[in-house]
Amino acid sequence: MPSADVVIIGGGIVGSSVAYHLTQAGCWNVVVLERESQQGTGSTGKSMGGVRAQFATPVNIRMSLYSIAFFRAFDEAMGHPSGYRAQGYLFVATHERHLQYLRTNYERQVSMGLNTVERLSLDDVIRMVPQLRSDDILGGSFCSTDGFVDPHSVMTGFMVRAIDQGARLIRNAEVTAIERDAGGICGVRTANERIATRTVVNAAGAWAGLVAKLAGVDLPVEPLRRMLVPTEPFDTIAHTAPMVVDMSTGFHFRPEGLGLLLAWNDPEETPGFKTHFDPAFVEKILTRGVDRVPCLGEAEVNPKRAWAGLYEMTPDHHPILGPAPGVPGLYFANGFSGHGVMHSPATGKITADLILKGASDLVDARLLSYERFAEGRMLEETAVL
Ligand SMILES: Cc1cc2nc3c(=O)[nH]c(=O)nc-3n(C[C@H](O)[C@H](O)[C@H](O)COP(=O)(O)OP(=O)(O)OC[C@H]3O[C@@H](n4cnc5c(N)ncnc54)[C@H](O)[C@@H]3O)c2cc1C
Repeated sequence: MPSADVVIIGGGIVGSSVAYHLTQAGCWNVVVLERESQQGTGSTGKSMGGVRAQFATPVNIRMSLYSIAFFRAFDEAMGHPSGYRAQGYLFVATHERHLQYLRTNYERQVSMGLNTVERLSLDDVIRMVPQLRSDDILGGSFCSTDGFVDPHSVMTGFMVRAIDQGARLIRNAEVTAIERDAGGICGVRTANERIATRTVVNAAGAWAGLVAKLAGVDLPVEPLRRMLVPTEPFDTIAHTAPMVVDMSTGFHFRPEGLGLLLAWNDPEETPGFKTHFDPAFVEKILTRGVDRVPCLGEAEVNPKRAWAGLYEMTPDHHPILGPAPGVPGLYFANGFSGHGVMHSPATGKITADLILKGASDLVDARLLSYERFAEGRMLEETAVL
């Protein structure tokens, strides 16, 4: 019977990063089981690829600082492109409470070592993106090391290196059972085989709740549809523009290819495994878009090129990382609530640290533990996109 020191369930960007960080730390007998015939068909392949350190909570800022430094060095260290483009994130404030929020975050970010974030005046914002309607803009904030990566390429880079270092990736391998004995986890089953192991990492993205149930654990991770709308080639806004976030509606956009990629968090969306694109969303998002960026009225949109994917939401919009209580050997790397691409390097590092050393020097992992919900230690991150 095959055996592994660690079995990772899910071969998206998170499972790939965990495999890389484990093998990099000398734990080579790692197996990644991916349900689909290829990697990246889950949320990773649907992502907008945004990376930012402009967060409100210290734990998110810390994970971003590690991850962005990692992306910056990725190509050379991994021998594979990450597609990291440091074009920045521009938060645009239209209310005094937005400014206050950005100011508080700025102070926290700087105190934690982020030296590329700056607060902007109205004139600064206009200079940066002159196409914005600015009559109600009060100011903003910009971080030049925020930007975008190519999620599929990052995932592939992690996995290629993990395989070089000893990991095995098995595709068409849906995990259908997680087995336990008196000592905790003892193996996993797919339709084709059983793999004996004492350590399992749940990296099943939006499906993490279903995987946790296989081990008898109730994991508070809910799938929530997010839709993205690309424009046809559009030159009115520079292709070097940052990710622009209109704080008054949550509408945001960034350059993508020859056009723009538009995003908006529809508050009417309800949880569920919905992965079809709703054509009615085009009008909803363009209404918000044109309101802030009037020239978008001239951009062409082909709904057939738009797509939908799943966020994996937790009650406090922070990931659940680390050991499962009561099930020795089961680890969670779940619930990224829209930040799983940007935090994939830190997640891989923290998860590998917890498995191999029982603690991580990157963050106090107790903050992200499963137990925080029962113990009333929820985190509050308000900068969720
Ligand atoms: C529209 C959209 C935009 C986004 N934008 C951003 C962004 O700008 N920045 C950012 O950081 N994040 C963004 N995200 C979130 C990000 O994409 C996810 O958080 C991240 O991809 C999660 O990676 P993952 O590896 O955990 O999940 P996934 O990529 O979903 O991988 C999970 C894998 O597990 C496999 N699996 C499931 N069940 C089983 C099983 N039983 N057995 C074996 N395999 C199984 C699945 O097939 C899948 O391949 C966005 C998401 C969406 C949908």
